[in-house]
Amino acid sequence: MSVTDKLSNIGVIKEILSRHGFSFSKSLGQNFLVNPSVCPRIAELGNAKPGFGIIEIGTGIGVLTNELAKRADKVVAVEIDERLMPVLAETLSEHDNVKIVNADIMEVDLAELIKNEFGGLEVAVCANLPYYITSPVIMRLLEERLPIRSITVMVQKEAGVRLCAPMPSRDMGAVTAAVHYFSEPELLFNVSRGSFMPPPNVDSCVVRFNIREKTPEGVRDEAFFFRTVRAAFSQRRKTLANSAASGLSADKAVVSAAIEKAGLPAAVRPEQLTMEQFIAFANELGEMLGEG
Ligand code: SAM
Repeated sequence: MSVTDKLSNIGVIKEILSRHGFSFSKSLGQNFLVNPSVCPRIAELGNAKPGFGIIEIGTGIGVLTNELAKRADKVVAVEIDERLMPVLAETLSEHDNVKIVNADIMEVDLAELIKNEFGGLEVAVCANLPYYITSPVIMRLLEERLPIRSITVMVQKEAGVRLCAPMPSRDMGAVTAAVHYFSEPELLFNVSRGSFMPPPNVDSCVVRFNIREKTPEGVRDEAFFFRTVRAAFSQRRKTLANSAASGLSADKAVVSAAIEKAGLPAAVRPEQLTMEQFIAFANELGEMLGEG
């Protein structure tokens, strides 16, 4: 077995990290995978296969990168921590289809990266995400309408349940509506906290967003639609009339009129709305408020 195939072995990881004098950074969300069964599953379920280029976010010592590089045509991995560069030069030396970009994922121009690095390939994103930026990263990947097929990421279990909640459902929030707008979300499998070094305080899960070719039709003004969704969930468990009026600083009578015109019950709660009902409500409200 080559060194790359032992990258999720805790002894091998400890030896490599100690030789490079590496210490974990809590603020960068550095919990590295040490369960050998997890990375091959993420790679296989995440579209790492011939004909695909993969963007990875946060390499750690390259345990997932290695599994991605074995299966996909090319991997471009973005890692913020400069201290990991010499480690990766060693752990990924067997692959000639990996490019490491030492940068903050939030500052990388991903449309440009895809154009320059993946000509002719389908593109997918795979990552064991640093949890402090889970939502901003996912929302950025979705909202930029990048030419990608899927996003397969490890997130905190609670975040995964929220992101993949059906619509409507009690578990849903504003982020759920955004995820459903751009993709078909799927919770793939759970991962216990003991699968990481050091172990985080929470369990995790792997989720996949299959990007829709077309977003839902009939939205009058997309920016106002998302503002309305965020406002609707700004106060948990309140009626849609109350939370939307307060979140948008709008007159409650106008919001109630929009609810009625959209054919919804007066006391409806935001978590009871389907996508189509949210769109109808936001369209009516936008028209009444002269938005968009
Ligand atoms: N993929 C590795 C694994 O599974 O063992 C590491 C996962 S660890 C949870 C998250 C990784 O993301 C760390 O290597 C961390 O340095 C990196 N990271 C944190 N913030 C980042 C950012 N803003 N941009 C790019 N990488 C980041």
